[in-house]
Amino acid sequence: MLKGKQALVTGSTSGIGLGIARALAAKGANLTINGFGDAGEIEKLRASLASEFGVEVVYANADLMKPAEVESLIRSIEARAGAVDILVNNAGIQHTAKVSEFPVERWDAIIALNLSAAFHAIRCALPAMEKRGWGRIINIASAHGLVASPMKSAYVAAKHGIVGLTKTVALEQARTRITCNAICPGWVLTPLVQKQIDARAAEQKISVQQAKLDLVSEKQPSQEFVTPEQLGELCVFLCSEAAAQVRGAAWNVDGGWLAQ
Ligand code: NAD
Repeated sequence: MLKGKQALVTGSTSGIGLGIARALAAKGANLTINGFGDAGEIEKLRASLASEFGVEVVYANADLMKPAEVESLIRSIEARAGAVDILVNNAGIQHTAKVSEFPVERWDAIIALNLSAAFHAIRCALPAMEKRGWGRIINIASAHGLVASPMKSAYVAAKHGIVGLTKTVALEQARTRITCNAICPGWVLTPLVQKQIDARAAEQKISVQQAKLDLVSEKQPSQEFVTPEQLGELCVFLCSEAAAQVRGAAWNVDGGWLAQ
């Protein structure tokens, strides 16, 4: 279904981004993966994605907190493949603290990566997408793009921002075959969330297993985590022709979190 399309999934060396990259590759998309980690491990991952799915997979180590690196990442894909057909803005970080104690440097970093990097990627990728007359932009927001929780001012602000950016881009492209949507996951058990579980276990002097159950149950009536595979399949649907009129959505996948 996506054979011959060129997909960029930011932050795809781990967690949700990796799940999305796998799902797109399984449908035949060529991939650019991005993110940090051990160089040897990343090369193993790149080679295994390419051989498992028979697609081209290129790794780019761009630091997306730097606008110039976002731009050169997009330009390098265009030089190789003509355009980024499918852009998944997924890379993100978290920091928790009360707003009065929030480190300014962490605020700036979260806004730079979780919000501004998506703006720069979209801004740079759109002209070539427009020339091709087809495109899919998927922004990985969060349930925290639609509701707040304490201790997460920068993250909630960035994720609400990305939902707004999504709607604006969708409207600007409403008469084209380029769609822009956001996915708003609840809790997904990835390294980003494992850190929060470990902190909770240490703080409350409870087991990691108990902290995990408490964390998910507090927000999600299902008491189950969302999986990267489920989010990958939703991305595949958003790339399909069946989703051609899904525009500017902020689609929650959250075990019932926002139904309450
Ligand atoms: P993760 O920590 O497993 O993965 C984050 C990825 O981003 C990694 O590949 C990492 O190397 C990369 N990255 C970090 N800094 C980067 C930078 N400066 N430049 C380029 N890449 C960088 O996290 P995750 O849980 O998979 O989160 C992915 C996205 O999903 C984030 O935007 C996050 O906010 C969002 N999200 C996560 C959850 C959850 O419960 N895990 C819920 C809702 C939304």
